[in-house]
Amino acid sequence: MKIILIGPPGVGKGTEAKRLATLFDIPHISTGDMFRAMFDEDTELAKIAKAHINRGELVPDDLTNAMVIERLQEPDAKKGFLFDGYPRNIVQAKALDDFLSNQGETMDAVLYIDADIELITERIAGRRVCKSCGAVYHVNYKKPKVDGVCDQCQGVLYQRKDDMEATVRRRLHIYHDVTAPIIDYYKHQQGFHAIDGSGNIEETHQKVMDAIQ
Ligand code: ADP
Ligand code: ZN
Repeated sequence: MKIILIGPPGVGKGTEAKRLATLFDIPHISTGDMFRAMFDEDTELAKIAKAHINRGELVPDDLTNAMVIERLQEPDAKKGFLFDGYPRNIVQAKALDDFLSNQGETMDAVLYIDADIELITERIAGRRVCKSCGAVYHVNYKKPKVDGVCDQCQGVLYQRKDDMEATVRRRLHIYHDVTAPIIDYYKHQQGFHAIDGSGNIEETHQKVMDAIQ
């Protein structure tokens, strides 16, 4: 199974991605999670990634593509993978296509999850993330058992800097201007499905499963 999830920030891609990856037993490749995992490292890549992310801008394509291509060559990606947050523009989509076609492979499913802007803005504003394991919560829709504490690992929950209001507006602009155009790029490929992400987590999961069947 080789799957891409596309959609605006905050639409619930990450939540659904984790579920699908477990279900199909394939690695969940979230470029955002990979960059965030580097935040405390003292490397040039970590510094560049952090600076771009905190401003709400995309990390440069050459760095992002290199990181992804390297990840795809790890043994666990042989049986398939699920992309969440990649590709995010046409240059990245083409880099991925080139890499796959060199291996004689193509994607099986491109799932485009969308919801309206008020809803995703509210989802982002209430999002809280575990500092230790990356698990994602929402102050209203997916509360942890204990306020501010991760159910899975007892880590501290925090609000991402790029989830704060001014930065969210910028991310939504970038999504609209550079990421949404890749939908046209994938729309006519086999395995493309548009999914309404405005329902709750369970409803969205059902729709995704129906599309994959
Ligand atoms: P969301 O889906 O809520 O936008 P992500 O964790 O996917 O959150 O991304 C957060 C940030 O990480 C992006 O705003 C961007 O700065 C950086 N990032 C993630 N994926 C990519 C990518 N494929 N190319 C460039 N930058 C990326
Ligand atoms: Zn945790």
